[in-house]
Amino acid sequence: LAGIKHYVQTGCLGHGTFGIVIKALDLRSDPPTEVAIKLLPRGDFVKNYQLYVRREIQNQSSLRHPLIVSLREVFLTPTHLAIAMEYAQGGDLFNYTLGHRPHGRLAEQQARWIFQQLIIGLDYSHRRGVANRDLKLENLLLDRDGRDGTRPLLKICDFGYSKHEQNSSAKTGVGTPVYMAPEVILGDSKYDAKKADIWSCGVILYAMLYGKYPFDAKEARFAQKIVTADYKLLPDVEVSADCLDILTRVLVASPVERMSMDEIKTHPWFLKGLPPGA
Ligand code: ADP
Ligand code: MG
Ligand code: MG
Repeated sequence: LAGIKHYVQTGCLGHGTFGIVIKALDLRSDPPTEVAIKLLPRGDFVKNYQLYVRREIQNQSSLRHPLIVSLREVFLTPTHLAIAMEYAQGGDLFNYTLGHRPHGRLAEQQARWIFQQLIIGLDYSHRRGVANRDLKLENLLLDRDGRDGTRPLLKICDFGYSKHEQNSSAKTGVGTPVYMAPEVILGDSKYDAKKADIWSCGVILYAMLYGKYPFDAKEARFAQKIVTADYKLLPDVEVSADCLDILTRVLVASPVERMSMDEIKTHPWFLKGLPPGA
């Protein structure tokens, strides 16, 4: 953060596809505020990925919701474009689940709590016209560690592939293969990005419940299996019938037959334990 006097770096939070994310203190407040700053190299990088960088900043800053990581400010350092945002202390959901051995998976109740928040945050985003297009465990953060049985708040982050519906040009297939909807894999240039987001929520729910992905990129016919929604439920993991009902109706290959946001929001498993009007 050369040249930026009011921020001091205190750690490193992760590196994703495009840059690194550091932890820092914003010294302009007393006490200083903990923030996360995404650093994208200036020059060719920002030029080549201008479209995505602009969408990330525009779309994320247009969303103000407790379940979506909020942007604080965007600034330039001599070497980087910096995006300062709210810091999520609990880390990302990958580290919380698959990345966390030996358990690797969540109890159904905990998975439901995360899923409910994911759907509420995503519903807000979709209503504002923004599809995320990169929903995955790594892009879902927690405000604190909830392993003591408390309920951490979910924070959706990473709008690098997000798209506003007013931007109606043909859609390119973006995202991470394991989470990609069949219609995205098939290269349908007119796919409904919101429906594709819902598929990714199904992959996330599966992974939270079973501690593994429904589709294994290392297996033969990986893409074919996604396209035909050919995945297995694991009999050794106990999951309620209501939960399996929602899971298997979200992970449906045909986007038309796949559950809609409104159907999910009125499903008995989704509504369980949710305060009315949430
Ligand atoms: P990329 O576009 O490179 O994937 P992300 O925005 O997803 O970048 O950030 C990469 C990783 O950094 C995340 O998976 C998460 O582990 C960590 N991270 C990102 N933003 C925050 C934040 N606001 N608070 C805490 N950790 C974060
Ligand atoms: Mg990411
Ligand atoms: Mg990204």
